[in-house]
Amino acid sequence: MSVLIYIENRDGKFKKLSYELVSYASQLAKQLNITAVALSIGNVDEAELKSLGNYGADKILDVQDDRLNVLVNKAYTSIIAQVAEKEGADIVIFAHNFSGKALAPRVAVRLKAGVASGVTALPGSLDPFTVQKGVFTGKAIANVVIKSPVKVLTLFQNSVEIIETENKASIEAFQPVLNDDDFKTKVLDVTKVTGKLLLTDAEIVVSGGRGMKDPGNWGPLEELAAVLGGAMACSRPVSDEGWRPHDEHVGQTGKIIAPNVYFALGISGAIQHLGGVSSSKHIIAINTDKDAPIFESADYGVVGDVQKVLPALIQAIKEAR
Ligand SMILES: Cc1cc2nc3c(=O)[nH]c(=O)nc-3n(C[C@H](O)[C@H](O)[C@H](O)COP(=O)(O)OP(=O)(O)OC[C@H]3O[C@@H](n4cnc5c(N)ncnc54)[C@H](O)[C@@H]3O)c2cc1C
Repeated sequence: MSVLIYIENRDGKFKKLSYELVSYASQLAKQLNITAVALSIGNVDEAELKSLGNYGADKILDVQDDRLNVLVNKAYTSIIAQVAEKEGADIVIFAHNFSGKALAPRVAVRLKAGVASGVTALPGSLDPFTVQKGVFTGKAIANVVIKSPVKVLTLFQNSVEIIETENKASIEAFQPVLNDDDFKTKVLDVTKVTGKLLLTDAEIVVSGGRGMKDPGNWGPLEELAAVLGGAMACSRPVSDEGWRPHDEHVGQTGKIIAPNVYFALGISGAIQHLGGVSSSKHIIAINTDKDAPIFESADYGVVGDVQKVLPALIQAIKEAR
């Protein structure tokens, strides 16, 4: 009996989201009085693997194979299903990101499991097993009941606190049974964005909307992002106008992000925009219109001209540092 967590690495390193997943799984395992088992696939060193124990993993299973250093859906699905069967997993947890969304349904089919995707909290009830997820671009919460013996969840970023615990984790190598068929689809090349903080990884995001008025007005936003070590984002009309690149567009039809701090500058706060950012821990808005909908979602707001408020804010941050 166990809760199994698939832990993704990037170039052999785990991301903050991995520790959120382990913290979530370990709390769930405690509620159920079972063990939390973390599974890492691809080449990761021992110190990095051991770090998972700091957040409550009881056991870490390690699958090292050069062919698995990039995501191969079929092979990964097979490995996770094999481990789930070996560990008698009752619950298998993934991150609600690209790989998690690709693997969770495949693994669920293999395990004949029910799936809840984009879960945002620990189960409200264990019997029947009921978890929460946001629906209608975060405007409502659905309670999802999973009745199958094995359950598969994908966890939304920033949904749980990372909790450090005493590290008692053991690390074991796992040898999966794989065949050529599992590698039928090959990733031949991966081109990585370099020199730029990935929007989906950023803890702080500085985002501008149509209220910035002109593509030449983005300097203070870039300066704020640089001062805080954040990433840049924008609303859809801004990228549609070609003021900013399309990969910065957040919202229902763009990237969905959940940073610790989201600056909404000259952004009205339309529901389609909020659909991509409403899971941010803190939203800070600057807008000339005191009735702009963004203020309903913001934790902190300034009613004012972003061109005047932003330089003063940047100056204050620099002085505070
Ligand atoms: C199917 C569909 C999908 C969509 N998907 C998305 C999506 O993924 N992402 C997205 O962003 N939008 C999306 N939209 C568009 C969305 O409905 C809004 O039109 C859009 O988010 C508005 O962008 P904005 O806030 O930048 O601009 P506006 O709505 O024009 O707001 C500009 C804001 O700036 C303020 N302002 C003006 N001057 C200043 C100043 N000097 N200082 C401070 N504030 C100022 C104004 O008061 C205003 O609130 C979608 C729409 C549809 C129909």
